[in-house]
This record gives sequence, structure tokens and C-alpha cells, in this order.
Amino acid sequence: MTVMELVLPTTHQHLTLPDTPESLKERKGWILSSVRPAWLLRASDSQKVQPLESFLGGDSPYRAEGQPWPSCPHCKRELGFVMQVMLTQEVVENIPNMKPGTFQFWNCWYCVPKGDAYADARELQTFDTDFLPFGASRSIVRWFEDQNLGFGPPHKSEQNLPFLKVLTPEPFLSLPAYFDERFQVEEWSEDELSDYDDAFMDALNSETISQVGGYPSWIQDGVQPKNPVADKNAEFVIALGTGDTDVFWGDTGFYYFFAADGDLAEPFVLEQTR
Ligand SMILES: [Zn+2]
Repeated sequence: MTVMELVLPTTHQHLTLPDTPESLKERKGWILSSVRPAWLLRASDSQKVQPLESFLGGDSPYRAEGQPWPSCPHCKRELGFVMQVMLTQEVVENIPNMKPGTFQFWNCWYCVPKGDAYADARELQTFDTDFLPFGASRSIVRWFEDQNLGFGPPHKSEQNLPFLKVLTPEPFLSLPAYFDERFQVEEWSEDELSDYDDAFMDALNSETISQVGGYPSWIQDGVQPKNPVADKNAEFVIALGTGDTDVFWGDTGFYYFFAADGDLAEPFVLEQTR
């Protein structure tokens, strides 16, 4: 029997996966080959963020010259700025098709999660075009390809978050949750699944920390969504987690962002909470 080795990029070579429990030794090859190098975005309170750092909250997201503060496609109020993430070459290196750039997320706290737009986002695969004005809107998710951007002029929207946090990328090894559709769950016994969960908890991001790349840490169903516009399978890019961000909507959980073929020009959003 060949013993598989974990092959990792230089950014992740210092990391090790926990030992595979004896009960899963038959699964070890599959587990090792499923590992994806990814990043957690640890959030910590900050008075001031340095240029080219990723951040959550505050009122100075990058805006192109003359670009107005975006408003909600539904209720027309000014959106709240949520986060700006530097997807550097190093960070996107191991995400299929992904290009480096700056990612921004805005939100309307009046319409989400209460509004119709997200009422059943898990049905995204079959969502009709009514969803698109919000879900795929450039107003709420923006992508500046190949650009590492700093700040824009301050703007105090009533919907901005009342705090500022720096988001620090931390390499981690990601494994799929057992209810991810790529997991051949029917071949595993309940004991194996439970041992897998216990042994690889850290690789499953169960603390709901924000994440870039790897497997989405599904809270509910692990169905890979399709981009409703392109009708293509979408790749997971980034999740905004509630673990250490103080961002809450309804319950706690994750906000997920996917892209088709790495193209965030028309990104869309999927919410799962618990
Ligand atoms: Zn709104």
C-alpha cells in the first residue's frame, strides 16, 4: 500500500493535519488527497487599518473617483459597508481560476435577512431571474481585478457597522464537511463520520471564522450552487463568518460568496445560518 504524503504550497508547508484515527486508516488516502490549502481571515478590533490590509467595518472602503456610495436595489437606502478583502496572489494561488484583486461586500440591514431577496437562498440553483437584481448585484459585491486597493473617502452611512476590525489571513488546511455533496457519505459508517468530525474539527472551520478558498464550511446543506446567470457550477471563493466578526444577521453562521470560473465580475451571494 502506498502511503500518501500531503503536498502543500510553501505558504502552508508548516501546517500538519491531525493524526488520522485508527478507525479511519482505510480512509487516510482519501482524506489526504482531499485537503485544500486555504486561509482563515481572523478578525481583531483595530483603531486604524493600514493600507492594503483587509478590514471589516469602518466607513472608508475604496471607491473609484466620483463613484457614489451604493444604495440598496430594493429599498433604495444607502447600503452599509461590510468588508474589503485583499485577495493577493499568495492568497488566491490555490483557488481554481481565481485572479488576485480586491473584494468588497456591502449589505442592506433593512432587507437582509428579512427581505424577500434572501428568503430561500439555498434554492439558488433554481432561482429565477427575480433574484438576480439583488443576488448578483454589483452594488453589494464588488470585485476589482488585479488591483490591491486602499481606502476611499470616509462616508458615514447609517447602515455602516459600528466598529472596525482588521482581517488577518492565516493559512489553514481545509477538508469538506461530511454533508458536502462531494463527500461519498453513503460509503461511510456513522462511527467513521463521527470520528472524522472529531479528528479534523479544525480543518472544518467549525468556529465559523471567515475563510478564503478551501471547502465551504457548510452549516446546512452542502450543495454546490450554480451561477443562475451562467448556469455553471460555481466555485467557493470566500465566506464571511460570524465567529469573531461581531457581524450578525438573524442567527449566526456564514455568508458565502461564489464565482463561476473565478469570475467575480458577476458574483453572487448565498447565505446559510444556524
Ligand atoms: Zn434595502
